[in-house]
Amino acid sequence: MTLHEHDRAGYATALGQARLGAGEGGVPIGSSLFENGVMLGAGRNRRVQNGDPTAHGEIDALRNAGRRTSYAGTTLYSTLAPCALCTGAIILFGIRRVVVGEEKNFPGEFELLRSRGVEVVVIDDPKATALMEDFATRNPELWNEDIGVDQAQSDPRQ
Ligand SMILES: [Zn+2]
Repeated sequence: MTLHEHDRAGYATALGQARLGAGEGGVPIGSSLFENGVMLGAGRNRRVQNGDPTAHGEIDALRNAGRRTSYAGTTLYSTLAPCALCTGAIILFGIRRVVVGEEKNFPGEFELLRSRGVEVVVIDDPKATALMEDFATRNPELWNEDIGVDQAQSDPRQ
């Protein structure tokens, strides 16, 4: 795991966004996009706040960063391992480096990211793990909805 000098600010921004989301009653996942220590955009999961199923933290950060002709040299930060949706955006836009807070609550798509040449760095931050764990325990339906577990097809007796 290789953390760079600028990673502290990038990750702190993502964690701050996750906490903002928690305060709004949303899924507490925060993200940011930085280039050489300069913030290009930050965002948080807003699927509850906006009623938007694609408003994941990473997508929100990319939206807020606006259009770019190149993502070379950028790093995407996320408090949680990126899902298939966000991994798709990372690969599509050619983001080469992703720094992740934790992977305990959700394994994400590290294998896919790495197979496409993306450097994945996991901080293993207990603050991010606790934030997500607390939310998932108190809001199991919202959490399953966020990670794409089809609740109509899952057996409620299990
Ligand atoms: Zn996602």
